[in-house]
Amino acid sequence: EPIATARELVKVYGAGETAVRALDGVDVDFGRAQLTAIMGPSGSGKSTLMHCMAGLDTPTSGSVVVDGVEISRMSQRQLTKLRRTRIGFVFQSYNLVPTLTAEENIRLPLDIARAPVDQERFDTVVRAVGLEDRLHHRPTELSGGQQQRVAAARALIARPAVVFADEPTGNLDSRSAAEVLGFLRSSVEDLGQSVVMVTHEPTAAAYAHRVLFLADGRLEGELLDPDASTIL
Ligand code: ADP
Ligand code: ADP
Repeated sequence: EPIATARELVKVYGAGETAVRALDGVDVDFGRAQLTAIMGPSGSGKSTLMHCMAGLDTPTSGSVVVDGVEISRMSQRQLTKLRRTRIGFVFQSYNLVPTLTAEENIRLPLDIARAPVDQERFDTVVRAVGLEDRLHHRPTELSGGQQQRVAAARALIARPAVVFADEPTGNLDSRSAAEVLGFLRSSVEDLGQSVVMVTHEPTAAAYAHRVLFLADGRLEGELLDPDASTIL
């Protein structure tokens, strides 16, 4: 059974003559313990799809089920609660809290939810992401790649059902990007997480188990176990 599904998902921004149909009937299943990449040209609806799947945006019509729960008609309050515990999100711009250390940023979802920190989980995630020596640094004292690894660890700390990442390597040099992608891949293969990421870079999509292609708000095809040359 998939970890997340969309059925006949439509998202229209605006109204009347200026309305934009960002998603035009998307049907998709995201696999458990899989790293799925979504590619497509700028404006094809990738971010909108991620935001609707993660409960950050409300679809115009259609259904979104995450971990067995229909979320598309939940209240903001219910969605906020769900995002704190069952859904992780990684942004292109990291979105760390500048006044908090790396450790405090990673623990933040648990602290906000007033949930206990499972020390074993914390240690596992920190080791997997290679941040053992950076836990007491603040974001400005970290490289872009380190900041994005903190953001990825934060997204994973509460064992969410699924993690969505929107262009997670968009601001990174290729070496930092490889570190972040290697961590996302190992979070799937070693920790059993389910991860969906948007990228426009074939080298990033090559880390995925499955690549979906979006165009004009519709899914146009997919590749399984791709390498960079088959995506290009
Ligand atoms: P991508 O992530 O593939 O670049 P987006 O999902 O950001 O695509 O955008 C899909 C379409 O929806 C584009 O035409 C974009 O201009 C439009 N769009 C996205 N967000 C908004 C918004 N908040 N208001 C109006 N139009 C939007
Ligand atoms: P390690 O597990 O040795 O730290 P990496 O972190 O570099 O290795 O990579 C983790 C996983 O990502 C690897 O098991 C491999 O499947 C995949 N991977 C690594 N490099 C690439 C690449 N350039 N393109 C596609 N997939 C890669």
